[in-house]
Parts: sequence; structure tokens; C-alpha cells
Amino acid sequence: ARERLAERLDAYGLTADALAANWIDGRFVEGEGELVTLMDPVTDAPLLSYRDAGAARVEAAASAAERAQREWMALTASERGRRLYRAATGLDGHEERLAGLESLIAGKPQRDCLGEVGKVREMFEYYAGWCDKQHGEVIDVPSSHLNYVQRVPYGVVGQITPWNAPLFTCGWQLAPALAAGNGVVLKPSELTPITSAILARLLERAGELPPGLINIVNGLGPSTGAALTSHPAIAKLVFVGSPETGRRIAEAGASRLVPSVLELGGKSANIVFADAALDDAVAGAQAAIFAAAGQSCVAGSRLLLQESVAEAFLARLTQAVKAIRVGLPDDPAARMGPLQNAAQYRRVQQLIEQALAEGATLLAGGERPAELPDEAQGYFLAPTILGDVTPEMRVASEEIFGPVLSVLTFRDEAEAVALANGTRFGLAGAVWSQDTGKALRVAHQLRAGTVWVNGYKSINVMSPFGGFGDSGYGRSSGPDGLREYTTTRSVWVET
Ligand code: NAD
Repeated sequence: ARERLAERLDAYGLTADALAANWIDGRFVEGEGELVTLMDPVTDAPLLSYRDAGAARVEAAASAAERAQREWMALTASERGRRLYRAATGLDGHEERLAGLESLIAGKPQRDCLGEVGKVREMFEYYAGWCDKQHGEVIDVPSSHLNYVQRVPYGVVGQITPWNAPLFTCGWQLAPALAAGNGVVLKPSELTPITSAILARLLERAGELPPGLINIVNGLGPSTGAALTSHPAIAKLVFVGSPETGRRIAEAGASRLVPSVLELGGKSANIVFADAALDDAVAGAQAAIFAAAGQSCVAGSRLLLQESVAEAFLARLTQAVKAIRVGLPDDPAARMGPLQNAAQYRRVQQLIEQALAEGATLLAGGERPAELPDEAQGYFLAPTILGDVTPEMRVASEEIFGPVLSVLTFRDEAEAVALANGTRFGLAGAVWSQDTGKALRVAHQLRAGTVWVNGYKSINVMSPFGGFGDSGYGRSSGPDGLREYTTTRSVWVET
């Protein structure tokens, strides 16, 4: 893995041992803080090292962003649109290499990472088209004034992202921020540092964006992350990650009166009624939780089955899940790779152990998969199904963020809704039924930012995404996501 990593980094003039992981003011720079060493999720051996960026690097990034943002706003809106559209062409010919890097560091199947690169392209193309369509409005005030409202960028925004889909999340937040006219300082997770920085380089160069418009600072939450959230130049914070950290970010922002958008975790319910098309629902239940080894914010981690169909459904689901191939990220037949890091691996195992001690039953998985290649000494876990879960158990209410499905049963519609809404999260959910009236009635009662009917996981950059409750506030994607990156100025003209 180290050799493949070295080869892929070399194409960008980078080395794995003293990785210059930050992209600041149009160039790669090393950090100044403590050395961070990342382990290979597949082999559990050291993979790469880099230095925590530190406060001085954040300072350099913020002042570069301030300068570049002024240059960016000096262009016409149509010119910004053209450049953002061209920025996406920076990915041309780099798709495989970028996906390969992401796959090595995140331990995700290469195919999934390639899909993420494609999404980044879509995001830039979509938001490029918005640049010259952000009109203000004229208000018919009851006086002789001319009153008009402009949408104005915040200036420099700070973005903080998690480790589960670094490329996707980076593109997801960069594109609307830039389209709205901002400069950006983004800190990826310390566990997945490099693909965001390379992405910034490719976009900035291909789009002829002012150097410093996109800055990526890599490092630890308490040092580099805290330096970013407390930096005076940062006028808005956008955070994607866990509720615990999200609370800290929002508090740091609030202490400076800086607003935030929080895209946090979930414990999404996948509700299957007895009248569902069961083959589709069995396939949907698997894709909902086992894609990305469950390390997805919208994972359908709770399966709610109507009692009358539970036994038959679980028999089919269990059989299908036992056939899921877990393997190396570059194995094209593997549907699941390892978990991303050792701490997450231990936590998931502990949650399974506790659930079993509390009376849940193990219907599938729960241990390392059989038949892995010798080198796979890392964080592999077979897709796991826990039956007889009750709402009081931790696995029914806490986000596990691993390949673990908690199964609960319900009698009727009302109980299904109560169970689904019975956690503090509200990110996503799904309803499976061939009775469209019932499916929609239930869908409309779910306290969740995204709901699927007879499907799971469709998302698109055109449609708003975000949470209720502990899943956060504010929205990303679509016009709503763009609006988060602007504020208004109301101008009154005496006539
Ligand atoms: P995390 O909260 O541990 O870390 C997220 C980011 O916050 C990292 O970059 C980390 O370095 C940074 N951070 C930590 N402490 C900080 C501090 N004091 N100041 C500033 N930054 C700090 O989350 P994670 O474990 O990386 O990611 C998993 C979580 O992300 C899950 O809960 C998952 O559901 C959530 N997630 C949500 C979405 C969404 O769109 N809603 C998408 C992906 C992941």
C-alpha cells in the first residue's frame, strides 16, 4: 500500500513520509505542529505521516483567502461561473488516481471513491450555473423609498469535514461557498488529510481561480480545528461531523457571534410494512446500511419491520447479507472494505458486545469475516445484523457508524412512526409499502431532513439536505445550500 501511495502522491510532487498536506495560497506547504501518523486500514501498519498544520498555517490560509476573495468578487458573476465550470475540468484524467488515493487512506472500495469524484464534478457544474442567477429583489415598501435587497457573500468561510467521504464532502461544501462569492479555509479530518488538498490544487489551477481562494489546512481538531473556528477572519462556519464536535463548533462560533451550519450524524429508520415489495425492500435494507461499511451519515441503521412479515423478511435478509463480499478496497468484487480506523473498529465491536449482553441476538456477522487475504490484518468486520433490539438499548439510539443493523418490530403505522421518531437524530429515513397513500402518510410524519419511499440513499446536489434535532441545522445542496453562504444587505434610497 505504501508503494502505491508513494506513486500516486509523486504525481503531485508529494511524499508520504513528510507530507506537505496543506494547500495554502496556491501551493502545498508542510505543517508546523506535531507529527501525525496514519495507519493503513487494511494492514494496520503505518501508512503516512504529516505535521499538524497549526495556528500560523491557519493564519496564512485565512489571510490568503481574504485577499483572493476580493479578487474573486472583482470578477463579473458570469466570469465566476465560467471559471467554476472550468475548475471541474481539473478532474479530467485524475479520476482514477484521486479515487485510488482516497481508497488507500479511507479503506473504501475504489469503485465507491470513483463515484465520489464524479459527484464533485456534478457539484461544481451545478453551482457554476448559479453564479449569475443570484438575484436580489426590490421590496414594495409603503413609502417613497426605493428599497432593494442584495445577496452578499460572508467573505471567508471556515469548513470542517469528517473522514468518511472526504472528497465528496469537500466538493459538496466548496462549490456553493465559491459560487456565492466566498473564499474558503477547509480543514478535513486528521484521518483523511490529502485528497482534499489535491482536489483544491486541481480545481484552482484548472479554473484559474485566484490562488488562495481555496485553502486546505490539515491537522487535529483541538489545535488546527480550534485555530480555524476562532480565527477573526472566518465569518461563517460549516461543519460536517459528529453531534459532540458540532456542539463545540457552534459554541466556538457563537462566542464570536459567527453563525454555523451543522451537518451531523443520524440513526435513520428504514420502515418496512407487510405490503412492501419484499425483494426490493431486502435489497434496499442492505444497501442502506452496508454500503461504505455503514460509515455513512444517512446509513439506515435501524430496520423497523412490521411484525407479520418480520420472520420471513429476516430469513431472506440474513441469507443475502451472509453473501456480501468483504475484501480489499481494490478488489472489484468486494462490496465492503474495512472500517477506516482502529478507534472506530473497537467502538463498533464494543457496541455489538454490549447489545448481545443486553439480550439482542446475533443474526449475522459480529466478527472478522472468514476468507480474507493474509495482508488484511486491519479493521475488517463482517456485515452484522442484531435481532430482538429494544428501544432502550444503545444500539437502538446511538449512531454506530459501522456495518451493524439493529432490527426492531412494530404492529401498526402509529407504532412505526413513534419508533422511527424515538431518537434525538433526524437525518433520514425510508418507508417501504405498495400502498402509496400509507407510505406518504408515514413519510410526512417522520422528523427527518430526507425521506425515501420504496428506496434508499438517493441524493442529488439539486435537492436540499440536512437534519432535524441532533442531526444538525441549516441545509446543504440545492438553492438552500447556496443561500447558507450569503447574507443580505437591504439598501434604502430616498426618492
Ligand atoms: P468528528 O466530529 O469526530 O470530526 C469531524 C471534524 O471535526 C474533523 O475534521 C475533526 O478534526 C474536527 N474537530 C474535532 N474537534 C474539533 C474542535 N475542537 N474544533 C474544530 N474542529 C474539530 O466526526 P468524524 O468521526 O470525523 O465523522 C463521523 C461523523 O460525521 C458521524 O457522526 C457522521 O454521521 C457525521 N457525518 C455527517 C454527515 C452529514 O452530512 N450530516 C456527513 C458525513 C458524516
